[in-house]
Amino acid sequence: MLERGEVANSWRRERWDSLRLLTPNWQSRLPGQRYEGPDPHGYMTMGEVIEFIERFAGDLRAPVRTGTNVSSVRRAGDGYQVTTSRGEIRCRAVVIASGACNQPSVPQFKDAVPASVEQLTPFDYRDPAKLPDGGVLVVGASATGVQLAAELQASGRPVTLSVGEHVRLPRTYRGRDVLWWMDASGVWDQRYDEVGDLTRARRLPSPQLVGTAERATLDLNALAAAGVELVGRWAAVRDGRALFSGGLRNAFSLADLKMNRLLDTFDEWARTNGRDAEVRPSERFSSTRVPSSTRLQLDLRSGEIRAVVWATGFRPDYGWLDVPVVDAKGQLHHQGGVVDSPGLYALGLPVLRRRKSTFMYGTEDDAREVIDHLTRYLAVRR
Ligand SMILES: Cc1cc2nc3c(=O)[nH]c(=O)nc-3n(C[C@H](O)[C@H](O)[C@H](O)COP(=O)(O)OP(=O)(O)OC[C@H]3O[C@@H](n4cnc5c(N)ncnc54)[C@H](O)[C@@H]3O)c2cc1C
Repeated sequence: MLERGEVANSWRRERWDSLRLLTPNWQSRLPGQRYEGPDPHGYMTMGEVIEFIERFAGDLRAPVRTGTNVSSVRRAGDGYQVTTSRGEIRCRAVVIASGACNQPSVPQFKDAVPASVEQLTPFDYRDPAKLPDGGVLVVGASATGVQLAAELQASGRPVTLSVGEHVRLPRTYRGRDVLWWMDASGVWDQRYDEVGDLTRARRLPSPQLVGTAERATLDLNALAAAGVELVGRWAAVRDGRALFSGGLRNAFSLADLKMNRLLDTFDEWARTNGRDAEVRPSERFSSTRVPSSTRLQLDLRSGEIRAVVWATGFRPDYGWLDVPVVDAKGQLHHQGGVVDSPGLYALGLPVLRRRKSTFMYGTEDDAREVIDHLTRYLAVRR
């Protein structure tokens, strides 16, 4: 196992200080290891996640070679030649487990933002004190965007949030964590070959969720009530002005509609499986309120906005992979983790084999099946 940094590197280096998992503690599972602390319904801090993964690696005596950067993997004979910062390795099979979120995904027009406005990605952001005083434009209203918008607004800075397509979810539904419902009702176990539009499912933004002691819902209504100004999707920069799309109403109703459809699925599952009595009665939430007027542009030279935080998603980095299996959009081409090159496999990507693959606890089932395939591949060749 080759790791360029340390064990749990992404959680150490690429996350902000206040972040907690949005998956509850009882759902933090790795093969043979589960959360055993006093707060199964809480959400781990970054320190706790690092400790959890370190303990797993330690108990397993995982043969991790830390501080070993892979700079190239290429086909050689009937196997692969791996070039690392600590030498060359020949092997018969490779599992790519380098993550789906290696770099922030930021639109090209960032280059047209005036230099007087500071620009940050979630990789640069640690806490509000890192930002200059004054207004902040947070771009993207998925898990990262809504969490950072809430934190920055609470720090006393006026926050404008640019909202595109998003996934709205309540933190709790009928008295249970919404992720309990995803798990129990089987939504998260849906397999990649059963998903109607797999490409879309793999690109779906993260849900608007935050892990807090209060188990609070952090949707756009909550943010607007806290004083965050909502604007449409940021489409372009012209003459130092940010131009936003006018489709806010549509984006809101689509997200509300999808959330309600999902809640219907949960209700139906509870009814047909005789689980109604163990949860609270069915509920529905207010629609996302459309502001009476929304700005369609914002002058970035006026001094109103001092910083832009790009919460526009993440993408993988396969710059080191010298095998032609990455598409024009930079995504790895694979069928449930089996890459289109003999002996090459992947783990840890969104909806790899199931909807839950996107999350840490989803990897266990995926790993079993991918490693089964790999074992058979090696056995046949032997
Ligand atoms: C902001 C954020 C919040 C999240 N919150 C949750 C959550 O609440 N719950 C949850 O279950 N999941 C969450 N996730 C998803 C979670 O991060 C992934 O499911 C999980 O990290 C996947 O683990 P991994 O080991 O496959 O990838 P990673 O954690 O990304 O690890 C990949 C490792 O590969 C190393 N690496 C990459 N390239 C190279 C190279 N060329 N050479 C050597 N080493 C390399 C990296 O240093 C890194 O340590 C979140 C993700 C993000 C970005």
